[in-house]
Amino acid sequence: MKTQADLYRELPSVDELLRDPGVSDLAHRERQSATADACRIVLAKLRSEIAAGHLDESKLALALSGLSSAVHAEVNRALSYSLRPVINASGVILHTNLARAPLAQDALDHIAHTAGGYSNLEFDLESGERGKRDVHVDRLFRRLLRKEFAELRVSGRAGAPAPTQTELTQGSVSTIVVNNNAAAVLLALNTLADGGEVIVSRGELVEIGGSFRIPDVMAKSGATLREVGTTNRTRIGDYERAINEHTKLLLRVHRSNFEISGFTEQPSIAELVALAHKHKLPLMEDLGSGALFDLRTIGINDEPGVLDSLRSGVHVVSYSGDKLLGGPQAGLISGRENLVKKMRSNSLFRALRVDKLTYAALEATLLAYVKRDYNAIPVLRMMQTSKQEITKRAVTVQKNIQAGESTRSTRIELIDGESLIGGGSAPSALLPTTLLSITCEQLSANELATRLRSSDPPVIARVEEGSVLLDLRTVFPEQDNVLTQILVRNATVWKR
Ligand SMILES: *Cc1c(COP(=O)(O)O)cnc(C)c1O
Repeated sequence: MKTQADLYRELPSVDELLRDPGVSDLAHRERQSATADACRIVLAKLRSEIAAGHLDESKLALALSGLSSAVHAEVNRALSYSLRPVINASGVILHTNLARAPLAQDALDHIAHTAGGYSNLEFDLESGERGKRDVHVDRLFRRLLRKEFAELRVSGRAGAPAPTQTELTQGSVSTIVVNNNAAAVLLALNTLADGGEVIVSRGELVEIGGSFRIPDVMAKSGATLREVGTTNRTRIGDYERAINEHTKLLLRVHRSNFEISGFTEQPSIAELVALAHKHKLPLMEDLGSGALFDLRTIGINDEPGVLDSLRSGVHVVSYSGDKLLGGPQAGLISGRENLVKKMRSNSLFRALRVDKLTYAALEATLLAYVKRDYNAIPVLRMMQTSKQEITKRAVTVQKNIQAGESTRSTRIELIDGESLIGGGSAPSALLPTTLLSITCEQLSANELATRLRSSDPPVIARVEEGSVLLDLRTVFPEQDNVLTQILVRNATVWKR
């Protein structure tokens, strides 16, 4: 019986391993340092297995015979991408962990077309002088947000201050782009309320995933939080009583990921607008998932869009580029020209600005909105897909899987379910769908879900009550076949 010390002595050194014919060949082709690193990692793993008592003499001999292929596998892993495409069968359209909004084809093309070379990102081709990077998207935002907004404010509804003549003729809403909505909130608060107080309802002191907490962002911005009301009830009088000479801003935060129901009260936007007007204070709304298209068309009624908010007289709104907008990660601030201008000249803006890839993707996404080509934007397409269409695809996938002999012990059923818009849109924003429900005798639902995640490409599914659930709403139709093959491949194993 060999001792652990004996076993350790059987391990080659890194240098010896590098001279192994199977490995030296690799070191020649791939980079030398990657191979040396791989040898170290493989040997360290063996050492820790010996230490843990997992390897006896014969198991170690087996491991040693497979040493060069272990090094090969490790080099492959180290030199391949870690960021990979996955098939999202979870039915959550805006899944923050799965990179939120997939980009439109035009956005990808525009990135490829402009980012591989030089571009006029900050160069005015007419004058030959330095230009501004915002012009590329601000012109489109103006077009998408101006008309109705100006019209409404002329009519003076919702207590909005009347627009000045310059605001009207120049287009009253301007937009700037920063890295994400968290950055947008930081920039807006720092610009509008540094050294002063911001009034916000206790019912809106939200935490969004990834530790974005309104109170923390507020502290970093230099503004002081003035909480009013209670978690479930805040009245307009609570805001009014809190206003003092230090007050710089009224803030409304969209309750993105939770609902308060029961005994609740929240002032309407119109009331907040009127209060802001009375005290000559700016009103900002952090929308989170600002939509540029009318969600009512897909049956979602309680989610305010960017235009709804601006129309009702909110001075500044902030929202994400990669939530309901369906574009790249970005934070957008749209609102009164004079306020946005101040944010642009804040030195923080320079630190939070975005690069050419984001501008290219955003410009292409906004152009689709201008052309009203909503189908070009994947998340809008997914939201608009009917349950009937999803059922049809699910039936095909089910048939193709069942065509194989191997699935007798596997049950695949179609059941009614709901897709989730997600990504900080109204938590109640659900869309009816048809789910593929899979159960099999030999594997637990969790084991099956794990196998699906380790397939290539990985498939992300839901597990509920002992079944694996797949929602084709978030699977691209061109992925249906690959998904079927992955399911069949795993079905073969299930039978054993
Ligand atoms: C999602 C969200 C944020 C954070 O936006 P990011 O773009 O992820 O930084 C902030 N506020 C609200 C209300 C949100 O829903």
